[in-house]
Amino acid sequence: IQSKLPNVGTTIFTTMSQLAAQSGAINLSQGFPDFDGPQALREAVGRHVMAGHNQYAPMTGLPALREQVAAKIARSYGRQVDMDSEVTITPGATEAIFCAVQALVRPGDEVIVLDPCYDSYEPSVELAGGRCVHVPLALPDFSIDWQRLADAVGPRTRLIMLNSPHNPSGALISRAELDQLAALIRGFDIYLIADEVYEHLVYDGVCHASVLAHEELYARAYVVSSFGKTYHVTGWKTGYVVAPPLLSAELRKAHQFVTFCGITPLQWALADYMAAYPEHVDELPAFYQAKRDLFCDRLAESRFTFTRAAGTYFQLADYSAIRPDLDDVAMAEWLTREHGVACIPISVFYQQPPADLRLVRFCFAKREETLRQAADRLYGV
Ligand code: PMP
Ligand code: GLN
Repeated sequence: IQSKLPNVGTTIFTTMSQLAAQSGAINLSQGFPDFDGPQALREAVGRHVMAGHNQYAPMTGLPALREQVAAKIARSYGRQVDMDSEVTITPGATEAIFCAVQALVRPGDEVIVLDPCYDSYEPSVELAGGRCVHVPLALPDFSIDWQRLADAVGPRTRLIMLNSPHNPSGALISRAELDQLAALIRGFDIYLIADEVYEHLVYDGVCHASVLAHEELYARAYVVSSFGKTYHVTGWKTGYVVAPPLLSAELRKAHQFVTFCGITPLQWALADYMAAYPEHVDELPAFYQAKRDLFCDRLAESRFTFTRAAGTYFQLADYSAIRPDLDDVAMAEWLTREHGVACIPISVFYQQPPADLRLVRFCFAKREETLRQAADRLYGV
């Protein structure tokens, strides 16, 4: 068979989680909590399953859940979105991104991605017949390199993929940068996918600058989020995408033939829980910041160097002082096998990784005891 995705292998998340399991290592690689979502949320699933909510949900998502999403957006970002024409529930943010790409990208179109970028973007673009143009973020802070971004925009540019808070770096895009982006693409027929799955995981009192709060950018954007991150239930693979009515209508044309709809009892449970505990999202920054700081305070005593993540549940760490001879893939394997802590190398999220990149990513969405134990092992490296 002639592969349509010749450069794609098994994802780094699967590879590293498998290696962690084989090595008996603490798994800080693939991003998922080692604790459960709220009990009331989990109990609600059982209730809805027993109440017979087990057939197809509406293609666009349960009205009760879309209503809660619209209410949360109004509360968090001051935008009134129409739950019927602008909110679509999807089986995971991944499906939302895939469908948005299918809706927009034609053969020959170019899509700008900012490296290091999440690994589902490029295959989604390639399956639509498009081509990714990779613009590296500027080191050491993973900020947008405006000159390189401006140089990458051309007549074939159809779409720019944004991700803030950013996986794997934890960096944030500011409101001023959104303004700068709006100025850059003004007058071009260019759309945006704003991957904001970590929208509620932002620390040190900073507010997430959402594209939903940006009038001009929202007019041409798909804004994607994931209940998996926000409610500690990544295995539920339930997310949503918000976009103006015409863009939502195009996305739904793809979504109805990729999966048709998300899982019914999970949507009911999320709707109940969001209605009962709207403050959940407001409590997340403190909840995760405590985990970040627990992990970082201990890591600061080790030979790893780092700047604390501004957002997401990932912490990058530089290991130049430990094994400068190893590239990051070899370092991740060595840490997993020899020191019992699995992590993610970040060169895999680049088309062309910087030659001297010596960074690995640790996930701190873990119980205190897991973080303590992992940090103790890293201290000894
Ligand atoms: N985008 C980014 C940046 C992510 O980190 C993730 C989490 N794996 C996703 C999208 C996909 O989210 P979901 O699991 O809801 O498909
Ligand atoms: N987004 C998660 C991460 O960055 C992994 C998701 C997956 O395994 N596909 O670790």
